Amino acid sequence: MAAPWRDVVRDAAAVREAAAVAVDAALLAGGLMRTGEQPHASDVVNYAPFTLLPSAVPRALFEQAYAVQQDFNLLVDAISQKKEFLEQTLASTIKVDDFTAQLFRIYMQVLEEGLAQTVFLGINRSDYMFDCGLDGTAALRQIEINTIAASFGGLTSRTADVHGLVLKVLGKTEEASHLLPNNPAKGLALGIAKAWELYGSQRAVVMFLVEEIQRNIFDQRCVENELWSRNIRVIRKRFRDVFEQGSLDASRRLYMDSQEVAVVYYREGYVPQNYDQQNWEARLLLERSRAVKCPDIATQLAGTKKVQQELSRPGTLEKLLPGRPEAIARIRATFAGLYSLDEGEEGDRIAATAIADPDRFVLKPQREGGGNNLYGEELRQVLEKIKDSPERTSYILMDKIKPQPAQNYLLRAHSPLRVSECISELGIFGVYVRQGQELVLNQAAGHLLRTKAIEHADGGVAAGVAVLDTPYLV
Ligand code: ADP
Ligand code: MG
Repeated sequence: MAAPWRDVVRDAAAVREAAAVAVDAALLAGGLMRTGEQPHASDVVNYAPFTLLPSAVPRALFEQAYAVQQDFNLLVDAISQKKEFLEQTLASTIKVDDFTAQLFRIYMQVLEEGLAQTVFLGINRSDYMFDCGLDGTAALRQIEINTIAASFGGLTSRTADVHGLVLKVLGKTEEASHLLPNNPAKGLALGIAKAWELYGSQRAVVMFLVEEIQRNIFDQRCVENELWSRNIRVIRKRFRDVFEQGSLDASRRLYMDSQEVAVVYYREGYVPQNYDQQNWEARLLLERSRAVKCPDIATQLAGTKKVQQELSRPGTLEKLLPGRPEAIARIRATFAGLYSLDEGEEGDRIAATAIADPDRFVLKPQREGGGNNLYGEELRQVLEKIKDSPERTSYILMDKIKPQPAQNYLLRAHSPLRVSECISELGIFGVYVRQGQELVLNQAAGHLLRTKAIEHADGGVAAGVAVLDTPYLV
């Protein structure tokens, strides 16, 4: 891939000067995070880590990622309404993965009772890397789609201006003018506001369901403030608060004490550590309610790695999106090789292949949030150990994407300034709203570029590995 900053990246004095400007600009722009030492208050904050330079992204792949987003919205929404598909696809997984099994139990319980929810809101982020072929051409490959708590739609809106300033400081005024404005938070808020409006109660609030530790609160505040500017009231609550204050009335309207809730926007609830017995009860209460959950539990299940793997099987997309061959072609063009480890001959064969050649693959459990996947020698050892046990089915295998690295500086508080070989991951935010069977909104809402040093195989921004970036289209 093109390396547009080759002339400045090794100019130590220029880099030092630009980095100082960049950090102050990020603070001024509100690209902020709470610190690890003081995660519960905003008295002391720091800048969210980011690259000094915007990273080159091939324009054609960037446009391809945007062009397929509405298709992915449709697909996720379709999966969330297909009980048999979710049941069959997750059957082997829920036998061995307790977390997915517990989500699935709630899903079945809610369906048995009958859904009270009639308005549906999806906010997702489809993530990609640029796979570098033998001939040097790059291809867009989906890493995963996040259907719950997809983050950084707020903070990412702050980086383009910072990078524009950095480029000017480095004498690249013309290039600075090409950086695209980007504000996913606005699009996410538009979806939430639409769902709130269709829910149909002026008095009702939007509830952000948040974690105990909220280091990334400023990212969420960007979305919150967009809602306040539309005169929609926002409250922030944890599962614990729902357990203590939440109740349903006879028509299953959700109340927090006496406050009616129209929309529940989850920024929590995607990993097992988020739940104890009380939190599971709180989750069930929310799912049973009429409130618009973003996402509802079916949509969360639609985002599992196991579902992603099943989608790549020939014929599956055709069943889920009948009569939409063009959407299917766009979606399929982004798939990397994905393989089931279910018991049987197919799973045996791919397990043996991966053990023989682990660097070709990534081994993924049904987990979110980064840092869970296995690579290389570790992949080989784990697969060797579980290859003859049912535990194998709690994982999927995926072809490892190999992007072309580029040099950049990762700016992180208290870290030395040094050049790193980096690779990037592009995320596109999608938003949709459905009322009954009618899709009333379906949009791409903006993008997120995250960049990390190549020595880290895994991990996002929250995990402390990747940093915020801005695409520079080439
Ligand atoms: P999570 O749900 O934990 O975010 P991901 O599937 O997004 O799981 O994987 C986490 C990280 O691991 C990604 O951000 C990416 O850096 C890396 N990764 C995941 N899949 C692949 C792959 N197929 N090839 C190369 N790197 C990958
Ligand atoms: Mg991810």
